[in-house]
Amino acid sequence: MSVWKPALVNISPFGDEYNRDVIVESRTGGGRYTVNLYYYTCTCPDFIERRAERPVGDLGRSCKHLRDMVLSLDSDAFGDELTRVIFKSPHGPYERIWFAPGPDGEILALGMRHDKSWLSLFIRGGSGEPYTRYGYHSGEERWAYDSRPPEAEYILEMLNSVPGIG
Ligand SMILES: [Zn+2]
Repeated sequence: MSVWKPALVNISPFGDEYNRDVIVESRTGGGRYTVNLYYYTCTCPDFIERRAERPVGDLGRSCKHLRDMVLSLDSDAFGDELTRVIFKSPHGPYERIWFAPGPDGEILALGMRHDKSWLSLFIRGGSGEPYTRYGYHSGEERWAYDSRPPEAEYILEMLNSVPGIG
């Protein structure tokens, strides 16, 4: 039985005043997409293929266009600090986010993307930050920049039970 729980991280729903279609340019060029914060939808392939079925409020529903728009609002849509840190991570937006109890009883968060072999682990504490992100490549079994979190063995043991990695 896995200790990891899918994180239905609360982004507060956007009210009716956000019910308008906004056209955004694709960052990689070529495309134009329509973003609506009220319905929390985007017309980009990433959203349609991988995120649309997630419930509103699930962080995994955010494609980069939704994320950029939320961040541009300076909104208080985020429930807590960890949500904000995960949401703002330049390694996201993640499709799968998992929580598990960390070594000190703190929440350990794991972000995954289908197109990246690196896992993102968010662990409480670090150099002046509320959370530190560590990258781990499960295929190559190595930490990014040789930067290992405290209690790395505990965490690696736990990674064996992440659904879809194992
Ligand atoms: Zn999008």
